[in-house]
Amino acid sequence: MQVALFGGSFNPPHVGHLMAAHYVRATQGVDEVWFMPTFVHPFRKATVSFEHRVRMCELMCQDAAGWMRTSKVESEVGKDGRTVDTLEFLRERYPEHRFSLIIGSDILKDLPHWKDFDRIERMVRVVVLNRAGYPAEGTVGPPLAVVSSTDIRERLTRGEMPSDLVPRVVLDYAREHHLYGL
Ligand code: ATP
Repeated sequence: MQVALFGGSFNPPHVGHLMAAHYVRATQGVDEVWFMPTFVHPFRKATVSFEHRVRMCELMCQDAAGWMRTSKVESEVGKDGRTVDTLEFLRERYPEHRFSLIIGSDILKDLPHWKDFDRIERMVRVVVLNRAGYPAEGTVGPPLAVVSSTDIRERLTRGEMPSDLVPRVVLDYAREHHLYGL
């Protein structure tokens, strides 16, 4: 099976992530997309726990007839794990799958700093999505939604309810657990 891995803080997950998953499945010969919330983000400290971010991703995935899944693999790899370690772990656990890696074009500038990026490129196909506002060479597809978790967190703090940017089940969960000041 062809599996596209989609890592991120997903704090919270939003329609940009959903569109990315749908686009990759529809155009890149991918059977499943696995969301992999970061255990501890390498560059920024997550304000919402891993468990909550996993649960919000699971809720977002639940309507996708099984092809969108949420993986807790980052907690197994550990807090010091980097993408290369995650990929090695997954390749060992699922030798029957072929993996690719989805990233948005905003991340491109970080890639030279990723541990063993040359090894990552040899292990998996890296699919760089065209994130609106971050034009770059080698991206696939049209610019995807102008939406970010940062913007959503700011809106929630201001008391706005971004129901067009975040799936209802995710907002309901955030409200129920008093996340993002709700
Ligand atoms: P934050 O604002 O907190 O940085 P984010 O919206 O960038 O969050 P992440 O969870 O950090 O979301 O992103 C996970 C992955 O999804 C990254 O590879 C990112 O580039 C990609 N991504 C997020 N939003 C979009 C979007 N609107 N279009 C394309 N890619 C996106």
